Amino acid sequence: MAEIVIKNLRKDFGDFTAVQSSSFTIADGEFFMLLGPSGCGKTTTLRMIAGLELPTSGEIYIDGEEVGQKPASQRDIAFVFQMFALYPHMNVRRNITYPLVSQGMPRAQIKDKLAEVARILGIENILDRPVGGLSGGDRQRVALGRAIVRDPKAFMMDEPLGALDAEFRERMAEELRALHDRMGATTVYVTHDQLEAMQMGDKIVVMNHGVVEQFGTPQEIYDKPATMFVADFIGSPPMNFLRFDGTVTEGASKVTLNGADIAVPVQHEAAAGKLVLGVRPEHVILSDTAGLRGEVLAAEYLGTTQIVTIETAHGEVKARTGAAQSVRPGETVGLDLLPRTLTVFDDQTGRALR
Ligand code: ATP
Repeated sequence: MAEIVIKNLRKDFGDFTAVQSSSFTIADGEFFMLLGPSGCGKTTTLRMIAGLELPTSGEIYIDGEEVGQKPASQRDIAFVFQMFALYPHMNVRRNITYPLVSQGMPRAQIKDKLAEVARILGIENILDRPVGGLSGGDRQRVALGRAIVRDPKAFMMDEPLGALDAEFRERMAEELRALHDRMGATTVYVTHDQLEAMQMGDKIVVMNHGVVEQFGTPQEIYDKPATMFVADFIGSPPMNFLRFDGTVTEGASKVTLNGADIAVPVQHEAAAGKLVLGVRPEHVILSDTAGLRGEVLAAEYLGTTQIVTIETAHGEVKARTGAAQSVRPGETVGLDLLPRTLTVFDDQTGRALR
């Protein structure tokens, strides 16, 4: 069990900065996601927490103790790489107990540990089978078993489901999350898949070019993106951006698009110039009476819903509507934007006004 506090963490490789000034806190027992596109510094951050990479500057606290410059062996953290990294010639029992045997743990204690881990993972019946002949799911469970048998303070996982096909991936993701809920161990999980992060994480850090863009619960990140990058990276389709020239006065609650006033109740910061109104596709309601209008370019049928693409004077907007709503390319529709969920960004800095 561990609380992990990251303060101003930075990593340079020569004159390239892979991670710059990251700060966030991982609470004890949390399932914590490091999310971002390829090359944004997720793996480097995870490796620094585990002690496989030393920070250029900044601090890492595990349960209050500063461990930033300590070797991995003194941090008591299990690093789960690709889950298939097993010893194929050994049976399941030996694969799982290997770390304990090499630590010199007494045999009776190893036996108890193995029984406990096998029960948690539901693999009691395959302990004598060679790993080489197991299904993908069982191999994954064995790899997890080898990590949890050590009872580490925390688990680090780097895209553990990355190599799996979509259907199996989803099942293993559910299993991993359920396992975490049973064990309650602090877990830090790297992924570039925003859906995976939203489904599995208690908290998410979104990174871009080595910088922490936002840190929060999945809901905070989805509903109140701190930057246009986060708004665009999270959600499928992502948040719509309607560009406009305007002024938001401090405490103002309205922006005007095409003569139509739209209330933005949470706005307080003053801004002027090129602004962007962000709205999620499911918060765009097609309505005949709405002041903001546009031409339907396409309607993509998805079974229960459809994604309607509309060209407006402020840019292209995607709306998620019921599949039964009849919309045809070429027709003009009105767009009601649900005010509760709108975010206004400064187009220059990409930051949300708060
Ligand atoms: P991916 O999902 O592609 O692994 P990531 O977000 O995990 O991406 P990192 O692996 O942390 O990204 O890499 C961040 C940046 O640092 C990348 O541009 C990478 O090329 C660079 N980098 C990582 N390790 C080293 C190293 N040992 N030497 C030099 N550059 C490195």
